[in-house]
Amino acid sequence: MRARDGLQRAPAAARMATMATLTVCEIFLSIQGEGRSAGLPCSFVRLAGCNLRCSWCDTAYAWSGGEPMSIPQVLSRLEQLRCRRVEVTGGEPLVQPETLELLKRLCDRGWTVLLETNGSLDIAPVDRRVVRIVDFKCPSSNQEPKNLWTNVASLTDKDEVKFVLADRADYDYARQKLAAHQLCRRCTVTFSPVFGRLDPAEVARWILADGLDVRLGLQLHKILWPQQTRGV
Ligand code: SF4
Repeated sequence: MRARDGLQRAPAAARMATMATLTVCEIFLSIQGEGRSAGLPCSFVRLAGCNLRCSWCDTAYAWSGGEPMSIPQVLSRLEQLRCRRVEVTGGEPLVQPETLELLKRLCDRGWTVLLETNGSLDIAPVDRRVVRIVDFKCPSSNQEPKNLWTNVASLTDKDEVKFVLADRADYDYARQKLAAHQLCRRCTVTFSPVFGRLDPAEVARWILADGLDVRLGLQLHKILWPQQTRGV
């Protein structure tokens, strides 16, 4: 398209997509700590900002701040990390509308793309090629009323649901939601004890005693690098 000033211009939609800016907390390469890809190398894009305030949040540093980056800048940084598996996380990634475009552009590259989202925002607009990891909140987080249970209808067998458990009451809540929404029939489900607060062996015993078909999440990155609080 040639504008009145004679310069060659990209179509408006393409220009908008190129100019879209995200507020990024950090981009790093690590080992995926949980879920179906646990143990595999993975690049992470941690976006800044979150609409929740979980009592045990371990990434509160992502609630604010961050650096503005265009989508091409994010893609270029990821290219440097040389990993074709990438997780977009937060904070809460879906509070930034541009995240949807980033996810699409990552999928277009043929990469394995994961999105970790806190379960309070609609996942339906997310590109269907993305593995959506929905982190529904248990009572100890103090954010449980924010769960958007209509998200369950969007889940497919390549998606994942995670419950972070701080105590037995959280476990009982997760078990009840598992049954009420038939979650194990829809996707992979992980029960992840809060690191240093609830003994994983205790959760393992509960799972086995109740015959639940869920995965125990151990947050491998925290076992590998217990002192590191960012970039893992
Ligand atoms: S949703 Fe995630 S980033 Fe936001 S407060 Fe909860 S744990 Fe922290």
